[in-house]
Parts: sequence; structure tokens; C-alpha cells
Amino acid sequence: MIQDQNFCQSCAAPLTEDILGTNADGSKNQEYCSYCYKDGKFTSDMTMEQMIDFCAPMMVESNPGMTKDKAKEQMRAFFPQLKRWVAAS
Ligand SMILES: [Zn+2]
Repeated sequence: MIQDQNFCQSCAAPLTEDILGTNADGSKNQEYCSYCYKDGKFTSDMTMEQMIDFCAPMMVESNPGMTKDKAKEQMRAFFPQLKRWVAAS
């Protein structure tokens, strides 16, 4: 499932055409979503842990029954594979 779908390489949101980020020249960026990446740069300068904190409530909301701790645990396992965090981890 992960192989077939593109995820934002910063926050792991499933990427669809309408939430793609934008490059400096206004074209769509295929690797990041518009929440993370706009006009050729990241919208905020976060660490991976800050991003996990930021995403946890949304992940809990979209996964009924999941606790915040469980959500963070999953993200800590997955986020280091994302392009934005590979170099940092
Ligand atoms: Zn994102």
C-alpha cells in the first residue's frame, strides 16, 4: 500500500493532486503537500519530533480508537524514512 501511494515526504499525508505543494516557479511539487511546502520552501522550520507532535492529533482523529501515544509511535517508525527527515536522523 505504501509503494502504490505517494506520501508527503515531510508529514506523511497521502498526496493527491489538489494538496501538492508548489515550487518557486509555481509548478506542483510531487514530493510534499501544500501544508509543508509552498513556493519552493518549507512552510515552517520544524524538527521531526515537532512534526510528529503537530500531526498526532490529526492522526488520532482520522484513526478511530488510536491513542496519541500509538500514533506517535507509528510516526516515529515511519517518519525517518521520509525524504525530509532521512538526512536528519
Ligand atoms: Zn506535508
